Amino acid sequence: MKKRVILMGPPGGGKGTQAKMLSAAMAVPHISTGDMLRAARREGTELGKKADAYISAGQLVPDELVNGIVAERLASESNGYLLDGYPRTIAQADALAAAGEKIDAVVLIDVPDEMLVERIVGRLSCASCGSVYHVKTLIPKVAGKCDSCGGVLQQRADDKEDVVRERLCAYHAQTQPLVEYYQKRGLLYTVNGNADIEEVFEAIRKILEF
Ligand code: AMP
Repeated sequence: MKKRVILMGPPGGGKGTQAKMLSAAMAVPHISTGDMLRAARREGTELGKKADAYISAGQLVPDELVNGIVAERLASESNGYLLDGYPRTIAQADALAAAGEKIDAVVLIDVPDEMLVERIVGRLSCASCGSVYHVKTLIPKVAGKCDSCGGVLQQRADDKEDVVRERLCAYHAQTQPLVEYYQKRGLLYTVNGNADIEEVFEAIRKILEF
């Protein structure tokens, strides 16, 4: 089984949803820099305060802030990890390699831009556990409540359309170059993310050999 895995793809492409399912099936931790930064923001830490303006504007948080929290977290993981939303720049990928992390696979969940805005603006996230739903395609059993923990579902401020467009720009300009970066290193696998959640999961399961 490939256990040190990077999930790549555009915002709204399904990385978080797949990472949660994979994490449960593989018993490997799901590490989401977006979740870590949002937690820091909620807790009002120095990092959270610094990150807030970037997140709200749909821009990437500076590499040095993100690299620090990831390095610290990965140092305590000996049984693999599913990285969701990291690395997002070449500098972050270089930092990961410099930290001695040997990645087994990079899975690109590919979804065309025109599908993404609709997917994200209909998204609802649990304020407590971060589980993600959709008003049309992934409806919670009880309206406004998280199926897993009963927490309140709300739209993330950065899931509003104007911010989503900024996030897509950041993805194309700063994150997409990583496709070639990992292709050159023989680590890239691409799955079609414009399919049912179960189909995408099955495609990734084959790649990761579990
Ligand atoms: P996500 O939940 O992965 O969509 O991330 C939400 C926001 O957190 C992004 O739009 C960025 O502002 C910030 N963020 C998350 N991961 C990173 C990262 N690896 N590098 C820079 N910014 C990040």
